[in-house]
Amino acid sequence: MNTFSIAIHGGAGTLVKGMMTPELEAQYKTDLKAALDEGYLVLSKGGTAIEAVETAVKILEDSPLFNAGKGSVFTANETHEMDASIMDGKTLNAGAVSLISGIKNPVSLARDVMEKSEHVFLAGEGAMQFAKELHYKEEAASYFYDEFRHQQWLEIKDTDSFQLDHSTKKDSKFGTVGAVACDQDGNVAAATSTGGMTNKKWGRVGDSPMVGAGNYANNKTCAVSCTGSGEFFIRGVVAYDVACLMEHKEMSLQAASEEVINKRILEIKGDGGLIAVDAKGNIAMPFNTEGMYRACKTSEGREEIAIYK
Ligand code: ASP
Repeated sequence: MNTFSIAIHGGAGTLVKGMMTPELEAQYKTDLKAALDEGYLVLSKGGTAIEAVETAVKILEDSPLFNAGKGSVFTANETHEMDASIMDGKTLNAGAVSLISGIKNPVSLARDVMEKSEHVFLAGEGAMQFAKELHYKEEAASYFYDEFRHQQWLEIKDTDSFQLDHSTKKDSKFGTVGAVACDQDGNVAAATSTGGMTNKKWGRVGDSPMVGAGNYANNKTCAVSCTGSGEFFIRGVVAYDVACLMEHKEMSLQAASEEVINKRILEIKGDGGLIAVDAKGNIAMPFNTEGMYRACKTSEGREEIAIYK
């Protein structure tokens, strides 16, 4: 049996100093642990990596603490527009949705695009039409409303800036969520889901739903889910770059992930991090911000839940 493992993230960056109380930190860790444990349970029962990453991401989407599903940030139009993607490293099948609203679990819609449509990526009205055909329930805007995120938006709504999921000033926190897993058969998968960036312009699409930028999986190399300043992660083709360094330069998962996050993406001023797993169950979780909400668990007994460096 292959070593199986899962890693999850709830976004890179940290809350502005003074906002992180011991109680809040405990809540973040509780929600991370719930997602980690459920995803790991799928793997330990012999489930697929795809099932595990979808399971874990759904739990993070249901938590208002993270910027995905419930608790997504507000657009410049005071609405929510969510992006998500999922990829199967065994088949290279992928599914993605962008600019959707009212869907409780965007990652499940992305999986349905992968499995039930002949396309890879559906956006906006078309994605919503597809959801309707599959009888997805449309939640009211109030389901996604979060007081803290609304405040973040009020602070910058009359400006031209758009910002990461955190209140004002320099400290930034990206609340995107993601999961990567390697199952007992050595198949890997990745999923990423986000509300994007506060005050983003209508129609803005980040890296999270883009195959190769914010999300990628290939059994030959690795599965990757990113979080960070999407515009830079798109330009750096970050997730695929990790896989390329492994494939063409024969780097280890750890070395390739660090090269991309601590060197290549920094060179173009991108900040953020990623989680990655290879087909042997190894895990890497590098980030170039002060922290990254993250957790991992392997069948060899490694377990970690952490926020700061
Ligand atoms: N990468 C996401 C985006 O740009 C933001 C995040 O990671 O929180 O949409």
